Amino acid sequence: MNSSEITKNRPDNSQNSLFQGQQFTNRFHSLGDEFYSHQMPSSLYKPKLVHINPSAAHLLDHSVPALSNDTFRDFACGNYILQQSRPVAAIYAGHQFGHFVPQLGDGRALLLGEIKNSCDEHWEIQLKGAGITPYSRQGDGRAVLRSTIREYLCSEAMHGLGIPTTRALAMVDSKEEVYREQLESGAVLVRLAPSFIRFGSFELFASRGQPDQVKQLADFVISHYYPEILTQSDANPYTLFLSEVVKKTAEMIAHWQSVGFSHGVMNTDNMSILGLTIDYGPFGFLDTYERNYICNHSDHQGRYSFQNQPGIAYWNLARLAETLLSLMTIDEANEALSDYEVIYSQHYMALMRSKLGFFYPHSDKTMLKEHETLILSLLTIMEKNKVDYTLFFRQLSNKTNSVRDLFLDREAFDLWEIHYKQALQKESLINPAINEMQRKQKMQCINPKYILRNYMAQIAIKKATEQKDYSEIDKLLTLMHAPYDEHPDMEHYAGLPPAWADTISVSCSS
Ligand code: AMP
Ligand code: MG
Repeated sequence: MNSSEITKNRPDNSQNSLFQGQQFTNRFHSLGDEFYSHQMPSSLYKPKLVHINPSAAHLLDHSVPALSNDTFRDFACGNYILQQSRPVAAIYAGHQFGHFVPQLGDGRALLLGEIKNSCDEHWEIQLKGAGITPYSRQGDGRAVLRSTIREYLCSEAMHGLGIPTTRALAMVDSKEEVYREQLESGAVLVRLAPSFIRFGSFELFASRGQPDQVKQLADFVISHYYPEILTQSDANPYTLFLSEVVKKTAEMIAHWQSVGFSHGVMNTDNMSILGLTIDYGPFGFLDTYERNYICNHSDHQGRYSFQNQPGIAYWNLARLAETLLSLMTIDEANEALSDYEVIYSQHYMALMRSKLGFFYPHSDKTMLKEHETLILSLLTIMEKNKVDYTLFFRQLSNKTNSVRDLFLDREAFDLWEIHYKQALQKESLINPAINEMQRKQKMQCINPKYILRNYMAQIAIKKATEQKDYSEIDKLLTLMHAPYDEHPDMEHYAGLPPAWADTISVSCSS
């Protein structure tokens, strides 16, 4: 690291009030420089603070007014580095579309450090799009406003839906010209997570034959993020660690499948060791229910299609397990992995049962099988009839007759509904504590009225890029933070997507 570079980015003392009195640390540094490269951000030309997310600001014990100033704007785009901060880009490897790439890394993301909040939570702060790093390969180290808006909104939409995810704190636009298929504005996303360590971080050291570094990384993750493992003295802590990652990943994927979220690029370098949804690129939420939905137009084989996600997550976990074989036997690794399918299925079924209004957690196998058949047959007729996934479940929750009208083949729905009503009656006999009104309310709390459909993000992007009007971002963020609630002024976003939505094509370009 060139020390003159640091001073170049250092502000005069008048700016030092940001995060003053707060504990600003960087535990990731303690791993040593085999795990990252020191890298200062490249300055961004004419930055403009686009948005600060109140909910994420709160995680850092801050408010939007307190951060609405030039110092924070400069901090958020990398033009101002806090005295305590030593920015780093992490190195990792990963399987991309099934092929092992021996070395990747944060090509355009920089870890600034972490803040410990008043609840003793540590939040790492990362800038995405802050310039070239040693891992940028052919890239320019930048992110464009278009993709930054998508990640900003979607990470918060996932949070609103109750799905583990990295968070978005703020977004900065600029007059920096970035070339993709055309000239676009460079932007920086400030994102937060307890840790950004990926499966690929383990793959790097395992593939290089460096078991000591694998162990060091595992010890670091266990002690900081899975400390409860250390209290279980008689078992192999690394097997417990793998089991925890298996569990968190299975639960996250079950959640994705239940809301119709497709990530698009489930490479192992995009898999969080904490089971967080990370690295939003060409993601998409299902409109009509379509098992083979492929949101990433560059994914020609459909490797990361909607229905492949649970299997791909298992495949990715197996790659992670391989990296830990210096710390456990193959049998131990296989045993940890073998839990995946059960955890995934149980979690997915529980979520889908709740979406249909079955809230009684019984263990009656016949009943569960009956519910499973009901879910599968529903998905089959939804797919055949091109029924909108979100709209169906919301209308079912509202107990309106219009749900039937979503099907072209109304008799197919009627037939399904007979079985559904019988199953509900059975459930009411076992669990009379819940009446129909309560069932309706509970269903509305699991079946969102609003999801971030591509066309909605597209409206916000168009306004922001063409008119520098960022107002839609704020509106959508508010909506996405409360997707189960009624928003009378935003009713237009609760219906079917407009016809032009079909023309949106999302690639990896970002
Ligand atoms: P992603 O698909 O966004 O996860 O990116 C895959 C890898 O390419 C990551 O390691 C990124 O850091 C890197 N990358 C993507 N875009 C750029 C860019 N414009 N400049 C430098 N690195 C990039
Ligand atoms: Mg990535």
